[in-house]
Amino acid sequence: KAKANGRGTYCFFETAMDANRQERRELEILLQQAVETQQFEIYYQPQVDTNSERVVGFEALLRWHHPERGIISPTEFIPLAEETGLIVPIGEWVLRQACKDAASWPTDISVAVNLSPVQFKSQTLAHAVISALSDSGLSASRLELEITESVLLTDNDTALATLHHIRSLGVRIAMDDFGTGYSSLSYLRLFPFDKIKIDQSFIRELGTSKDCAAIVKAVVDLGASLGITTTAEGVETTEQLSRVREQGCGEIQGYLFGKPLPLSSVNELLQRQLPGLPDMLDSTFRN
Ligand code: C2E
Ligand code: MG
Ligand code: MG
Ligand code: MG
Repeated sequence: KAKANGRGTYCFFETAMDANRQERRELEILLQQAVETQQFEIYYQPQVDTNSERVVGFEALLRWHHPERGIISPTEFIPLAEETGLIVPIGEWVLRQACKDAASWPTDISVAVNLSPVQFKSQTLAHAVISALSDSGLSASRLELEITESVLLTDNDTALATLHHIRSLGVRIAMDDFGTGYSSLSYLRLFPFDKIKIDQSFIRELGTSKDCAAIVKAVVDLGASLGITTTAEGVETTEQLSRVREQGCGEIQGYLFGKPLPLSSVNELLQRQLPGLPDMLDSTFRN
């Protein structure tokens, strides 16, 4: 009986795995089609200077509009895009499009683009950055690239060399999701990052956890002594805002100031932020 049971269990498991594999295969085909038929759109989330509360840049966040399934989140398709290598053409498209969009913004507004570790293995990344800049006419100083420590974790030397090459162009490099990896600190020593983005998991509990407040404070101080700007990710409440302000975070990003917006809304928002005018972020963009 036990044997029969075991077999039954085994069969069930195998079927579940097959279904999973089939679903993945299906998603993979859809993703391939998305690349071919341009089903992607970039949303932009405001990055705000903590003191002036003015927008200083936007993070490019990819959205997939599937004709039947609607908007698919990057957390759902980026891992598959990485496994299949499709992240290379997708990532290059994001880079080119984001630079093109940003080139039409005021010159004191920059754009941040997320890079996958897989893009560092393709050997074409530095060239993709150079051509995105030259084709769009965007100045290198207005482009920021966000990487997580996993970039430096795998294939260290090539990734490092590529990063140095890109940074030598005048492009800034930010460490994303700081504090979530195993050894974020040691990576700060490996590469001269221009910015540290403190992961939103620390910001979320700022009001309730003394530990989180202490950690945020320590990271901001560390950044300051290394000459690195810090950004607080995921600021959702005014309480969190006053905490990160107290701790000395230079920039903030989060739903409190604005969710990721389509390009047309970005242009509208920038229209209102005319030089010399105070805080223009109103409820239109906070929701
Ligand atoms: P990330 O780079 O850490 O981006 C921040 C994520 O937090 C975004 O999710 C953003 O919408 C979300 N967020 C911002 N403020 C708040 C807030 O106040 N509260 C909450 N709950 N969430 C907030 P999104 O757009 O779903 O992107 C998820 C992740 O997907 C990104 O995390 C990034 O790792 C990846 N991703 C997005 N676009 C790209 C891309 O073009 N290339 C690559 N390689 N990865 C991308
Ligand atoms: Mg990011
Ligand atoms: Mg992040
Ligand atoms: Mg993240």
